[in-house]
Amino acid sequence: MSEPDCLFCRIINGEIPTDFVREDDRSVVISDINPQAPTHFLVIPRAHLDSLDDASQKDEALLGHLLRVAAQVANAAGLAESGYRTVINTGAGAGQSVFHLHVHLLGGRPLSWPPG
Ligand code: AMP
Ligand code: ZN
Repeated sequence: MSEPDCLFCRIINGEIPTDFVREDDRSVVISDINPQAPTHFLVIPRAHLDSLDDASQKDEALLGHLLRVAAQVANAAGLAESGYRTVINTGAGAGQSVFHLHVHLLGGRPLSWPPG
């Protein structure tokens, strides 16, 4: 459930003091330490999964929950009208650097497509 060497497990356990923008029984939301947009949050499940590729059928409700939390946080941040983006990097080749599943929530500036 919790991996001793995992950065996000340690944040969730309180070993690394970090403000939670929002939390519930299944997820926490933190500000990204290296923001790529004026608003850049990370929606992180409390349960450790290495990546989206690790998710199975039993995780389907959790995955939906993470996206709903992202939308709620985006609305609370006033991004509904200007738009926002949710991103899940999966694997080092796609830019994943922390191997505990998380959803990036980005907004507050124009976001071009396709992403890099
Ligand atoms: P990814 O590269 O998709 O795995 O995303 C990991 C994200 O975690 C990056 O955007 C980092 O800036 C962010 N990050 C790394 N360490 C911390 C930390 N201690 N607190 C908040 N965000 C962090
Ligand atoms: Zn973890």
